[in-house]
Amino acid sequence: MSKNLTDETWQNMELLPFCVLLYNSNTNIFKVNSQGLSLFGLKENTHFKKADFSHITLTNHHSKKELLIEELFFDYFTANNQCQFVLSKPTSKLILNVKFAKLLHSNSIIIIDILNNNVDEQYDFGNIISNISTDLIDIQNDDVDKHINYALKAVGTVCHADRSYLFKFAEDGKTINNTHEWVNGNIQPFKDDLQDLPKDDLPYFFSSMVSTHLFRVNDVTSLPIQAMSEKTIFQRQKIKSVLCIGLRYDKELVGFIGCDCVVKKRNWTDLDLIRLRLVGEMLANAFKNLNYKHELQQTQQQLINANQKLNKQVNTDGLTNIANRRCFDHTLKCEIKRCARNKEPISLIMCDIDFFKRYNDNYGHQLGDEVLKRVAKALHDLCKREGDLAARFGGEEFTIVLPTIDTEHCQRFAALIQEKISELAIEHNFSIVSKYLTLSIGFYSFIPSQKTTPKEVITNADIALYNAKETGRNKIASFEKTN
Ligand code: GH3
Ligand code: MG
Ligand code: MG
Repeated sequence: MSKNLTDETWQNMELLPFCVLLYNSNTNIFKVNSQGLSLFGLKENTHFKKADFSHITLTNHHSKKELLIEELFFDYFTANNQCQFVLSKPTSKLILNVKFAKLLHSNSIIIIDILNNNVDEQYDFGNIISNISTDLIDIQNDDVDKHINYALKAVGTVCHADRSYLFKFAEDGKTINNTHEWVNGNIQPFKDDLQDLPKDDLPYFFSSMVSTHLFRVNDVTSLPIQAMSEKTIFQRQKIKSVLCIGLRYDKELVGFIGCDCVVKKRNWTDLDLIRLRLVGEMLANAFKNLNYKHELQQTQQQLINANQKLNKQVNTDGLTNIANRRCFDHTLKCEIKRCARNKEPISLIMCDIDFFKRYNDNYGHQLGDEVLKRVAKALHDLCKREGDLAARFGGEEFTIVLPTIDTEHCQRFAALIQEKISELAIEHNFSIVSKYLTLSIGFYSFIPSQKTTPKEVITNADIALYNAKETGRNKIASFEKTN
């Protein structure tokens, strides 16, 4: 048989009122007629590859053995050339009766009858519902769309609809938006056209929605005269039958989900209604949970922010805005322990403004405060490494904790402090040691042990500071053990 002959055969076969598949085992190419496209959920194409069928699972109905799509064309067949298979799609399960015919030149053809089984379908929907509800219980903002789309596809499929959708009210409550939509096969989607739709354009629909939370129309052409506006909108979308149920949040209508039939009319069954209502209620609950979660997250964030603010306040000196005594005590204790653990040195610097009482007495307390702020900032800015901390110890005394810094480096750091303070060039005509404001600095550098207490470290640094004062002020003194 030539290629042309196969094409001709296919042209005849594909017109059959059944689902028909052709497979060439040389090229591994499949051809599928329009019934087949809808059965396997495929988009129209001249030929298909194995991978195009990856969304379905096939099992032999009797042996329960799973098989690949091309294996439908192999030797599973009995003497009368037919066999039954189960086709599992993401949203349904069908029993297929497959009839087989071998053509020439590696071409085989199968004809498929759908032997549907209602019990099986119901069971399947039960499974789907249980999947949806488990997914929706712990829904996160990032995957909400995926779950809604899955739920719409499931309910659209089992209700034999061509389209299913979710509408939500805009915040003003006056317009509605089509937020999610599922369409079957080649059905035209309408979501993009259905945005910011005034609620007043659908008065009949909404009067039914508000009073019964239901809109059930088997035949759109039979809608009463009061529903002219709805009829026009439905007919523009080629809708023949429509079924919608309202979504409520705290008894208030927040939107609706629904199904349309476009290809042919449908007399909606009570089972359709129950299924749509079930999915609608699950979605409404999921939105409620999301809202609740969102509010909870907001409250938690506010608490965290307030806590952080409070924490900062408790550890910050009100005047100078650098760390306060409380923060210093805590940091010194932690850093002593850490350096002891790591057998590393630590340094504590204490500095005190020289003749500050005289400064206050002569320039005023307010200018004195400004000086404290400038000195604090200079000390704070010198602490560039993580773990270094400048704090106001009290009055006009400041401390600096320098983890891992030994005597030699601390001496250099202290010199840097004096340099920075002299760069500030704060006039102090009432100081005996300089025309500008100066600091006396005492420090203690050592390798701590687990037994070292902050108190003894502060005492030693303070002794050094006392020495700096005693030896003339504007000096740097290190605490030596012989002191
Ligand atoms: P010394 O060189 O020996 O340190 O002399 P001093 O005058 O700096 O020391 P003294 O302890 O006698 O005085 C400290 C002064 O610091 C007294 C007080 O007026 C001033 N002082 C303490 N806290 C503040 C403050 O918050 N604002 C202002 N403006 N001054 C303060
Ligand atoms: Mg003092
Ligand atoms: Mg002083």
